[in-house]
Amino acid sequence: MIQERPFDDRHPPDPALIDKCVHCGFCLPSCPTYVLWGEEMDSPRGRIYLMKGGVEGRAAMTDSFVRHFDACLGCMACVTACPSGVQYSPLIEATRGQIERRYERSIADRLFRRAIFSVFPYPRRLRIALAPLVLLQPVARRLQSSGRRSRDRPAEAGALRPSGAPRQSGILARLRAMMKLAPPVTWKSLTARLPERTAAAGAKRMTVGLLPGCVQRLVFPNVNAASINVLAAEGCDVVVPRGLRCCGALSLHAGRLDDARCFARSTIAAFERAGVDRIAVNAAGCGSSMKEYGQLLAGDPKWAERARVFASRVRDVSELVVELGEPRALRHPLDVRVAYQDACHLAHAQGVRQQPRDVLRSIPGIELLNLPEADICCGSAGIYNLVEPDTAEQLGDRKARLIDSVNPDIVATGNPGCTLQLRAAARRTAQRQWRILHPVELLDASIRGCPRSDLSDL
Ligand code: SF4
Ligand code: SF4
Repeated sequence: MIQERPFDDRHPPDPALIDKCVHCGFCLPSCPTYVLWGEEMDSPRGRIYLMKGGVEGRAAMTDSFVRHFDACLGCMACVTACPSGVQYSPLIEATRGQIERRYERSIADRLFRRAIFSVFPYPRRLRIALAPLVLLQPVARRLQSSGRRSRDRPAEAGALRPSGAPRQSGILARLRAMMKLAPPVTWKSLTARLPERTAAAGAKRMTVGLLPGCVQRLVFPNVNAASINVLAAEGCDVVVPRGLRCCGALSLHAGRLDDARCFARSTIAAFERAGVDRIAVNAAGCGSSMKEYGQLLAGDPKWAERARVFASRVRDVSELVVELGEPRALRHPLDVRVAYQDACHLAHAQGVRQQPRDVLRSIPGIELLNLPEADICCGSAGIYNLVEPDTAEQLGDRKARLIDSVNPDIVATGNPGCTLQLRAAARRTAQRQWRILHPVELLDASIRGCPRSDLSDL
C-alpha cells in the first residue's frame, strides 16, 4: 500500500544532514548499484535527493521510491568517497525506519523478512535453524556446485554491463540464495563454547570483553577462538559475558530501530557487568553498529551517556591488536600470498583500513597483495544477499574474478557475512582455489607456529 506522505515526524532523515550534499557526484563511481546500473536514483546522490523529496513532501512512498532504498547495500562506500562529509549512515537508517513502519510490503516479502528477524538475532533459534544443515551438507554442496556457472566464461575481472536495476527477487530466488549461501556448519561448530574468562599470558595489559556474535559463534567459532588466543597472548584478560544477545546490527541496518535499541541496551548492560576496559569485535557489521550506540540511544536520558561511553570502548580486534602496541607474542613465518578484502562496515563505516593490513604485515613471510576495487562491496551487506540475491550475486561474481586476478592463496576479510558471500561466489565463479580466513585467524596461526599446510584446516 502506498503512503501519500512518505515520512512522518518520528525520526525522519535529518534535513541538515541531507543539505550537506552538494550534488558533486564524487560518490557515484564508488556506489555498487550505480556501477551496476548507471541509474542516478540508485546512486548515493539520487537517494539523498529522494530523501529530500520525502522530507519536503514532494515524493510519495511508491513501490519505486522504496525499491531505490531496498537496492542500497548500506555499504557506506559513498561516505568514504564524499569530500563534503555527508553522513549517509544515519540518513539511510532513518529512511529505512520510515519504510519499515509506513510501507506495506507484499505478504511474501513480509513473511520472509519476519522469518529472518525472528531467527538470525537469536543464537538459540539460529542454532536450531542451522542444525538440519549438518545432515544436509552433502545436498547443499551439490546444489551449490550446480550453481557454478561462470567457470567457462572468460574471466573478465570487473567486467559488468549496466543492465538496469532488477525487480525485487521472488521468494523462490531468495530460498535458492539461502541454499547457495548455506554455511559449512558441523555439530562441533554449533555446540562450541567459549571460555568465560581467559587469563593474559604474562603481565596483564587490560581486560577485554569479546562479542562472540550471532552468526560468528555458530558458523565460524574458530574466529572467536583465534581472537581469544591472540588477545591473551598479547597480554589481555579476555571475558566473554554469558547470555549475550544480538548486538542489534541486523536490526539497525534494516531500519528496525526499536529492536536495535533494545538489543543495544542489553549488550551495554552485559559488558558493564563484566567490567571490561575494551570491547573487541571480530565481525565488521557488529562493530560498526556498536560504535553507533551513542547516536542510537541519544534520545534516551537513561542510556545516552552509558551508550556514549560504551561506544568509545568498542574496537575491531585488529584495531585493538595495533592499539596494544609493541607485540609481545613471537610471530612465526607463514609463507602465503594474502589478498585482503575490506569489509565495508569496517573500512567505510568504521574507517578501519590500515590496522588489519598492519596485523597481516606483522606476520613474517606473508605477501600482502593489492586487490583491485577493494573498496567495492562483495554483495553480502547484512541480509542483502538474502533479500536481493540477483544483485548480490553479480557483485559477488565480480569480486571473485577480481580476486582471481591477483592469484592469492588466501583471502582475508573481517566479517562472517563477507566470508559466506565470497565462498559462494568462489564456488560459482573462481578459476583458482583460495581459502577465506579472518586476519585474526592468520595472526593466531602465526603465533602458534602453524605450518602452512595446517592453514587449510583452520
Ligand atoms: S551505501 Fe553503498 S549502495 Fe548505498 S548509496 Fe552508499 S555506496 Fe551506494
Ligand atoms: S560525494 Fe557527497 S556531496 Fe557529492 S553527491 Fe555524493 S553525497 Fe553528495
